[in-house]
Amino acid sequence: MAIREGRWDCPTCGNAGLPGRDLACSGCGNRRPEGVRFYLPDDAAEVTDAARLAQARAGADWICEHCGVSARASQDRCPGCGAERGSSPRQQTHEHRFDEPAKEPVRALAATAPPKRGRRWKGPAALVAIVGGLMWWNGPVEVTATVAAKDWSRAIEVQEYRTVQEEDWSVPQGGRQKRSYRAIRDYRQVLDHYETKTRQVSERVQTGTRTYTCGQRDMGNGYFEDVTCTEPEYTTNYRNETYQDPVYRQEPIYDTKYAYEIEKWLPDDTAWARGDAAKEPAWPAVRIGRNEREGARIQRYVLRFTDDDGKTYEREVTPDQFARYRQGQPVKLRKKRGGGDVEIVEPQAGT
Ligand SMILES: [Zn+2]
Ligand SMILES: [Zn+2]
Repeated sequence: MAIREGRWDCPTCGNAGLPGRDLACSGCGNRRPEGVRFYLPDDAAEVTDAARLAQARAGADWICEHCGVSARASQDRCPGCGAERGSSPRQQTHEHRFDEPAKEPVRALAATAPPKRGRRWKGPAALVAIVGGLMWWNGPVEVTATVAAKDWSRAIEVQEYRTVQEEDWSVPQGGRQKRSYRAIRDYRQVLDHYETKTRQVSERVQTGTRTYTCGQRDMGNGYFEDVTCTEPEYTTNYRNETYQDPVYRQEPIYDTKYAYEIEKWLPDDTAWARGDAAKEPAWPAVRIGRNEREGARIQRYVLRFTDDDGKTYEREVTPDQFARYRQGQPVKLRKKRGGGDVEIVEPQAGT
């Protein structure tokens, strides 16, 4: 596994990119402190020198508990004060996987990236403006107008009792059967035969394993070691297989169908009456002949308005409203700024 030399930054004088093997800062001479953060430049070459490799593999540095000087794992005594190693703490080591986010930036340079501030999404403000515009557009406005015209129409349907010819799967009450015959009522799917077909199927087969560099281990002495992972490697095999594909046919379902005569009330004519403000609404005169009767009644009342600017509006109203509003009467109308239907603003009781 490849070993590379890391770097560290002096926390005392700020000298950056000091070689991992240096136990003291070449700028200010201060010792490398406990907990210093080592980082590995992207282009760090693999260490090949035997002495350096031995230095890296000896283990993490230890920090003299008496004077705080950083010592190599191979040293029994502190290079600063000469004290024995005793129970002095070791420099921290940790592993970082490429596929998981580092708890703290592995490289000191990453920490100097400027924080992303000042770029706020302008969306909410724009949305408020659009919604506000729509509310203004749909907001109600009142206009003063007068009733310019009144139109009403009323209709009565006339129905005739007639004999009709119909066909169905049964004869309803009141029907007189004329004839019957066999007819296709529905279809059902019936299995006819199987066809032998071929299809391609695939299967994933493990062919071996792959070893790759998946992270870096900070060795606690200025060096980093590649962390390797293995994962299974697969290949997809294809083969043809035969199978039986069912083939269906449609089979008709026969039933007895009846032709019959029956009497029904059917629309025959519509009588209309129309008028304006000069004529009170009234139902049309209906002439009921033999085998006839009155059917549904329809009535529609429309008021037409003209406002102060000469613009015209119309509204369908109830019979009660139609009776209450006279031609020439001033009214208040409520409408949306953007157009559409108008409403009559009814005067409140007591105002
Ligand atoms: Zn320094
Ligand atoms: Zn010491």
